[in-house]
This record gives sequence, structure tokens and C-alpha cells, in this order.
Amino acid sequence: MAMNTQGRPSRPLHAHDAGAYTDTFSGSRGLDQAEPLIFERGRVDVTGVDLPEPSGAPLRVGGLERKAEIGLPGLAEPETMRHYVRLSRKNYAIDLGLYPLGSCTMKHNPRLNEKLARLPGFSDVHPLQPQSTVQGALKLIGELAHWLMVLTNTPCVAMSPKAGAHGELCGMMAIRAALDARGETGRRRVLVPESAHGTNPATAVQCGFYCDEIPADATGRVDMEAFKAKLGPDVAGIMLTNPNTCGLFERDIKEIADLIHEAGGYFYCDGANFNAIVGRVRPGDLGIDAMHINLHKTFSTPHGGGGPGSGPTVFSQALAPYAPVPYVVREGETWRMVEHEHEAEGEPFGRMVAFHGQMGMFTRALSYMMSHGSDGLKQAAEDAVLNANYVLARLRHVMTAAFDGTCMHEALFDDRFLKGTGVSTLDFAKAMIDEGYHPMTMYFPLVVHGAMLIEPTETESKASLDRFCDTLEGLALAAQNGETERFTAAPRHAPAKRLDETRAARSPVLRWTPPQDQPQAAE
Ligand SMILES: *Cc1c(COP(=O)(O)O)cnc(C)c1O
Repeated sequence: MAMNTQGRPSRPLHAHDAGAYTDTFSGSRGLDQAEPLIFERGRVDVTGVDLPEPSGAPLRVGGLERKAEIGLPGLAEPETMRHYVRLSRKNYAIDLGLYPLGSCTMKHNPRLNEKLARLPGFSDVHPLQPQSTVQGALKLIGELAHWLMVLTNTPCVAMSPKAGAHGELCGMMAIRAALDARGETGRRRVLVPESAHGTNPATAVQCGFYCDEIPADATGRVDMEAFKAKLGPDVAGIMLTNPNTCGLFERDIKEIADLIHEAGGYFYCDGANFNAIVGRVRPGDLGIDAMHINLHKTFSTPHGGGGPGSGPTVFSQALAPYAPVPYVVREGETWRMVEHEHEAEGEPFGRMVAFHGQMGMFTRALSYMMSHGSDGLKQAAEDAVLNANYVLARLRHVMTAAFDGTCMHEALFDDRFLKGTGVSTLDFAKAMIDEGYHPMTMYFPLVVHGAMLIEPTETESKASLDRFCDTLEGLALAAQNGETERFTAAPRHAPAKRLDETRAARSPVLRWTPPQDQPQAAE
């Protein structure tokens, strides 16, 4: 086994870990092609580019010129193309199949959005261009901001945060600034329900707060008695997700808002699940003070590997003065970006990013909103809830629903139906890969045992949902019939098997070491 200088394997231990099959001569299986790392495949002397030797120009690197080969992989254009296409075929994608990840909202990315985002007036502008030359882009940001404020009924939005978690940071920094402005430096306790997404407590701690966990009641919602008991003069606020990560609407949200305000705190709402209520409920009416909106969830912009996130954050009147720069204002027919704190009204806490945010995502999100209209957005939310409830109703008899009653946009199951089968939630998820599905979210939220959280989204047809439910039903029955091996040996049909994800996260091998530089170490 080749080890790198830190004593870690410099390449996968087994050929099949690198995506090669062992039961064929080529390492490929049918259309699933074995593909080594680009560094292992390419050589600099076969690069597709042929540049003349530089001549005449004096070297001005102060004696620091490179002594050895640079070591970049060299590939011809068709080889490069094949490398990336082969890798992409090992991947799962929203354009390939149903993506049931709960709490992630893996929505279809309409092609119209892509077309509009590629218009040169939006795609070819530079953030340092004079504002007079990018009036259309500024207007687009201003218009998207307007609709986000209308949909949430809030007076202010910061467009620049670049993800949901970044939006949380923005919201909590504004809360911190507001508390500091009130001279209340002792208010540092933030209440966070135990079903919260991990980004909530992480954000609170990052902003100098500490977290106090609120337990869930038997219905999966905030335990109101426990919540009331935790209110006090050191409470900075609450971070609450609605609908929550169990896929349930927090019915007491207005009372929660009133009580936290009475106690002198602020209400941060995690708006990642806004897609379940957009067009039907305006969070501003519920008493929120700040909420991020994941454009890559609710407004269909590409998610994860498909594109950068975007997390505009809306603010109530109470927090609006502390919202960060930059923001766009309209002056007659002209749009202006307020870029510096000293030009701003109020007391912005600062800025979150170098420029203005994710222009490409703004374009896609506005395209989505305008092509749907207010009735279409409302219907998207309703259909997302309908689809999740269909999945819940169809699978309830073979899998165990975590809570009674209907759900919002995602259906939560626990692992009671696997009890005594020798199959775990993880095994069940791996068996889904063999069936051609990306697994659902597993072991989250933490409030139920062996959680399986399924969010189908609104664009899946009944036929697609039926096929998915038939598959899960088949798997659940197979587990209950003692076909344990089918699960514990899964995935059998994937190019990579069970990877050591913990080790990959704790000690990632991020650097490829050329074979000649690898110290030979005994296994
Ligand atoms: C997705 C999500 C987040 C984080 O959003 P990112 O855009 O991934 O940073 C926070 N809270 C909840 C409930 C989420 O589902």
C-alpha cells in the first residue's frame, strides 16, 4: 500500500474503491467505465496545448524559479471530456432521478432559469463595473428583493448571504448588533429546539451566544411548557424552523413569537422549509424578526454540486437598521447599490461578502418566481405538501411514521419497522442505492430513532412517486422477511461500496502524490 508523508494511503486501497470493478478485465462494467484520477491518467508531454518556449523575456522571480516539473496532468481534449463525463456518470443528480433527501429540498431546476441566467447582460457583468453600466442587473436584484419582502411581509432584506447557514449568520449578527445597541450585553442565551438543523447552534455559538436546547413534545413540536420555563432576562432569542425538521408545522408559532418578544428577545426563523408555505403564509405575520430564504431550496436554483447557494435574509422593522451592506435602492428610474456603511441609513453591522451576492442565482430565482406567478408559487407549496403526504400515506403500513397525523413537505419515519430484522437505517439506505435511488436523509432529525426523512418535492408525478413507494415497500417487506443479506451487503451495484465516511471527513487525502515520490511502506 502506498502511503503519503503523513502516513495515510495516497490512493484508494482497492481498485474497486477507485471506481473499478474486479470481475471484468477492463475494470469497467458495461457503461460504467473505470476511471482513475486525472493525475494518474495524464502526462504533461501529451497535453492538448502546444505553447512556444518563451524567449527574450527576463525571468523576474528572484531566483525562485521552479526546479522540477510542475506535475499538472496533461490530456488531449477528448480525453479530458471523457474523464469528466465518466466521473459524472458515477454521480446521482436531480436530472437523473427522484432525490428524496429531506431537509434539503432537491428541486427540479427549470431550464428557463438557466436560459435567462446565461443572458450576457447578467452573466458577463463584473462586480467592479461602474453602476451606471449594470443598471439592469441592479434592477433585477432590487426586484427580487421586493418579491422576497412581499412573500414574507417584511420591510428589509439582505441579499448578499451565500447559503442558508450564511443567512443564519447574517440574522444572528443583526440580533447581536441590536442587543449591543440596547446595551444588553448580558443577553447571550439562545433557545434552540432539539430538532434544529446543526447550523442553528453552530451559528449561535459563532456569534458569541450559547445554546439552550428546548425539548420536543410528543407530537414532534416545541414543548411549550419547557419553552416558557426557559425564558428569562439573559435570553437573546430563539432560533426556530417552521415547518420544523420533522416536517411539522409549529402551531404555537405566534405564541412563541409573542412570548420571546415579551421576554426581550428576538425571533430568528430558519426559513429553509419556506417551500412548504410560500404563497400561503407570510412569516412576517407570524412575528419573526429575521429569516433566511434558501434560493436553492424554495426558489429552485441549483443545489449542492450543481451551483452555489444563496441565502437572502429578511428582517423585521426592529432589526432592519442593523442589516448589512450592500443593498440596492431605487432613486427615480436609477438603481444604486449602497456599498459602504457610512452611506447607509441605520447602523449596518458590516458586510458579509466582498461583493453583492450570487448574481446567477438571483437571476434564476426571479425567473422561477415570475414564471410561476403568485398562484403558481402557492400551488408549488401545496403540491410539495401533497406529495409528501402521499408518500407518508402509502408507506405508513410497512414503515413506521415517526408521528401521528399529516405532515408538511417531508415525511419522517423511524426505524421501529426494522426492529429485530438485523437491518439498520444505514443498511436500508444502502439498499436504495442498488435500486437506483439516492437515499433519503438518514439519522436526522435526532429526535427520532434511526430517522428516515423523505422530501419528494412538488415536481414528482404520481407515477414517479408510485415507483419510489413500490420500491421502498418492497425493501421494507424484504427486511421483515429476513432477507438481511440484501441490506448488509448493499450496495452491490454501485461503483464504490461502503466508504469510510468518518475517516474521509477526519483525515481526508486531498493531495495526490506521484508514485516516484511515495515512500514505500509495508502493509
Ligand atoms: C438546508 C438547511 C439549512 C442550511 O442551509 P444551507 O444553504 O445548506 O447552508 C439550515 N436549516 C435547515 C432546516 C435546512 O434544511
